[in-house]
Amino acid sequence: MTTVVVEVLGVNGGIGNTSYAKNSLPQQKAILKTKPITDQAITSLYTSSLNLKTISIADLGCSSGPNTFLTVSNLLKAVDRVRKKLRRDSPDFQIYLNDLPTNDFNSIFRSLPTHQEEFKREMGDGFGQCFFNGVPGSFYGRLFPADTLHFVHSSYSLQWLSQVPKGIEDNKANICMAPGSPPNVRKAFSAQFEIDFLTFLKCRSEELVKGGRMVLTILGRKNEKPSFLIIELLAMALNELVSEGLVAEEKLNSFNVPMYTPSLAEVKSLLEKDGSFTINSLEAFQVHWTGNESDVENISDKNNGGYNVARCMRAVTEPTLVSHFGEGIIEDVFPKYRKMIADYMSREKTEFTNVTVSLVKT
Ligand code: SAH
Repeated sequence: MTTVVVEVLGVNGGIGNTSYAKNSLPQQKAILKTKPITDQAITSLYTSSLNLKTISIADLGCSSGPNTFLTVSNLLKAVDRVRKKLRRDSPDFQIYLNDLPTNDFNSIFRSLPTHQEEFKREMGDGFGQCFFNGVPGSFYGRLFPADTLHFVHSSYSLQWLSQVPKGIEDNKANICMAPGSPPNVRKAFSAQFEIDFLTFLKCRSEELVKGGRMVLTILGRKNEKPSFLIIELLAMALNELVSEGLVAEEKLNSFNVPMYTPSLAEVKSLLEKDGSFTINSLEAFQVHWTGNESDVENISDKNNGGYNVARCMRAVTEPTLVSHFGEGIIEDVFPKYRKMIADYMSREKTEFTNVTVSLVKT
C-alpha cells in the first residue's frame, strides 16, 4: 500500500467564534439534503442482515461540532425506526469517529454523555448500546482491520487532498485549480485527486464487509471547467495584500490550497476504475454559499453582507493560511475576503455543488 504524507491541517477546531463548530452551516445543509440517501443505505443494510448483533459505522472526516453527531444520530434513528416496525430487538452499535490527529477529539468526547442521553431519550429503552471510538489518522491510509465495517459515511471531506500536488510552481497568483491555471497545473490537481480517491476506495474496500455500504458527499464542481470560485476569491484578497506590500509576491506564488473539487463524471469514472463497489445512486445537488437561501441580508448587501460565508471559509482555511503566511495575515485578509464574497453574492447566484454517491461493496 502507498503511504501518503499528510500536509493537510484540517479546519479550525477551536471553540471560538471563528471555529468550524460555529461556522459550518452549508456543510450541515448538505448532511440534511443527503439524509434520504443515507437513511435508505443504512436501512437496506440493516434489513439485509437482520441477524447482525452489532453494526459498525465509521464517519470519516467527522470534525468536531454539531455536524459530528448529526450524521451519527440520523443513522441510528433510521435503524431504530425500522427495527421497531419489524418488532425486533435493537442491534448494538460500534461507532468510529475519524479525523486528522489535529482534530479536537477532546471536545467530541466531552459532549458524548449529552448525546448518549439524547439518543436514549429519543429512541427509548429498547435502543441498543452505542460504543463510541475516536480514530485519529488520515483516511488516505488504512484505519480499520480488514472486513470489520458495515457502513462508512463521509461528508465534505474528500475534496481535501492528501497534499498540495507537486510541480505546480507556475500556478503563480492562483491558489487552486482556477480558470487562469496553466494546463500542467490542472493536470497535476486532477492527478492528485485520482491518486487520493483511488487510495481511499482501496482502503475502504478492504475494511468494509461484502455487502457493506458507503455514502460519500464531496464538494464538487458543476461541469468540467477548471474553477473553484470561492477559493479564487480568496486568491483575489491575497493578491490585494501583495499589491499593498503586506505579503511578498513569492510567498503568494508558492501557496496553494490542497483541495480539489471533482465533477460528477470524474467521481463516476474513478469508481468504475476501482471496481470494488456497485453504484446505487450518484447525483449532484446545490447548496447556497450561506447554507440558507433566505439569508437575504447576507446575500444581497454588497457592502456589509458575506459575513457568514467568510466566517465559514475562515474556519475551513485558517490553519492552512497560518501555516504558510503566519498568524499576522489573518486579520488583514478576511475583511477583504468578506468584501469580495459580498460583492459576488450580490451579483451572482452562488452555490456549492455537491456530489453524493451511495455504494455497495461487492
Ligand atoms: N464531516 C463534517 C466535517 C467536514 S470538514 C461536516 O460535514 O461538517 C472536513 C473535515 O475533514 C475536517 O475536519 C478535516 O480535518 C477532515 N480531513 C481532511 N483531510 C482528512 C484526511 N486525510 N483524513 C481524515 N480527515 C480529514
